[in-house]
Amino acid sequence: MNGNRHRSIVGICILVLACAGPGMLCSSKGETAVDHLKEMMVKKQIEARGVSDSRVLAAMRSIDRHRFVPDQHVTAAYEDHPLPIGYGQTISQPYIVALMTELCELDGSEKVLEIGTGSGYQTAVLATLASEVYSIEIIEPLGKAAALRLSTMGYKNIHARVGDGYAGWPEGAPFDVIILTASPPEIPQALIDQMSDNGIMVAPVGDFNQELVTLTKQGGSLTKRTITYVRFVPMVRGR
Ligand code: SAH
Repeated sequence: MNGNRHRSIVGICILVLACAGPGMLCSSKGETAVDHLKEMMVKKQIEARGVSDSRVLAAMRSIDRHRFVPDQHVTAAYEDHPLPIGYGQTISQPYIVALMTELCELDGSEKVLEIGTGSGYQTAVLATLASEVYSIEIIEPLGKAAALRLSTMGYKNIHARVGDGYAGWPEGAPFDVIILTASPPEIPQALIDQMSDNGIMVAPVGDFNQELVTLTKQGGSLTKRTITYVRFVPMVRGR
């Protein structure tokens, strides 16, 4: 498909979304446009940048990202950037969600802890690919809205709560995978303690200059690997 033709098809899809409004996106007409947008998102933003885990790509194709963004941003839901979700927070760029999910190396058997539920989009991606997801959000209205959204969408393997992620979720530990979608100045010890042996953590770390790192635990020793540089909202401390 040549570039101009592709651009005009994407334009038409966005127009359909804009005219239909969020309430009509589930109609069979709207779904065709949304499916096209998802396919383009996966091909051009995610596969093209090297994410290749077929389960991750399938999850990103299957989940309606527009259902996680505020109404005024619905037409931009599949674009290549983060979007505001209120309270100064953002839903991450699709590529970053896919990259971080791939780094979790999920095979469907894992118990996952997520810090920073936000809109619940990353939570939905994880819940599609893992056995159980525990997710903590510190901003109450965001946490409550995300929990309602996820249960309305039919997810049965998500435990969501409002609280401070620095403490983790001790009653649910140990976790095979821990993923942070807000950046702490350094990795909190409580979260390291809640990793299972052979567990993996995927996290942005740092204040202004942040690195996306993976931390693996094996026989009690930790290995850290830096993946790339990123910009996430800060992981704040509860009062
Ligand atoms: N994964 C989210 C991205 C949300 S942005 C999504 O897909 O939409 C990061 C979120 O982390 C914000 O909602 C922010 O409020 C939350 N957060 C920041 N510090 C936190 C903490 N200490 N504990 C739990 N959540 C926190």
